[in-house]
Amino acid sequence: MLIGIDIGGTNLKSAIFKLSGEIVNKKIFKTAETEIEKNLTKFITQSKIKFARKKNIFGIGISVAGLLNKNKKLVNSPNLPNFKFSKFMQFLKGEFPNVPISIMNDANAAAIGEHSIGFKKKYSSIFLLTLGTGIGGAFINNHSLWEGNFGTASEIGHTCIKANGNLCNCGVKGCLESYFSGWAIKKRAETFAKLYPKSKIGKLEKITPLEISNLCRLGDKRSKEIFKESGVYLGIAMSNIINLINPETIILTGGLTKARKYFLPYSLQKCEELSLDGLFKKTKINIGKLGIWSGTYGSIQTFVK
Ligand SMILES: [Zn+2]
Repeated sequence: MLIGIDIGGTNLKSAIFKLSGEIVNKKIFKTAETEIEKNLTKFITQSKIKFARKKNIFGIGISVAGLLNKNKKLVNSPNLPNFKFSKFMQFLKGEFPNVPISIMNDANAAAIGEHSIGFKKKYSSIFLLTLGTGIGGAFINNHSLWEGNFGTASEIGHTCIKANGNLCNCGVKGCLESYFSGWAIKKRAETFAKLYPKSKIGKLEKITPLEISNLCRLGDKRSKEIFKESGVYLGIAMSNIINLINPETIILTGGLTKARKYFLPYSLQKCEELSLDGLFKKTKINIGKLGIWSGTYGSIQTFVK
């Protein structure tokens, strides 16, 4: 058996896999929960591996929302401010001594999951974007992950698309993430709500990208405008990917893809406009097939037989 764990900013997704890569059991916890280790232990023991479990585990895959260096140390994770990653790793090593553990960045894990399982190795080159609270990226080249010189490649969310633009969480101005991401959309809506408290956005109890997309569905013009304008910036980033690395496909995953109706047409229009002649039509734009489980699937692929 294999254990896959995907640690995101909000949820921790865990699954038990057969050695063939098939999921036997899965469960989601809140990453913010204080009893995360207890919950995980309970889930693992309650799964089908409860008999002689330590003997039966051949590998543990961890996918984590953050920047990892080549030694697989978490160097930066703005979306996991209170999660003690090193303490969690100590716990796992204590529970499963001598079991190999593979650690990777969540976007990389999602790309491996979609490449191997979601799209069954149909594409040899993939650029995957995770569209969530933040924006992650991963590049599969010739069926293998491109990690870069220091292991931090493909951070498309922190590529500059507007000089001296909005301030990003990373401290730099003009990153894609400061225009198109869950937090950027939320921030824009909050600014609008302050200016126009009597508007539909202003009357929302809690502003989230999901609530803004609900307002789009109800026909709110301002909400549609927010998604449209942000979507154009995503299109700029996608054209940069196409012109720079020319992958067979761009795969979009993450929670924001649920609201794609309100931004993707504008992203595609901008992407086509800025892509070099003919390249847009030759690049397949896909939506991920594994949903929230892509990172968990990807995390264990190195052990699959
Ligand atoms: Zn940034």
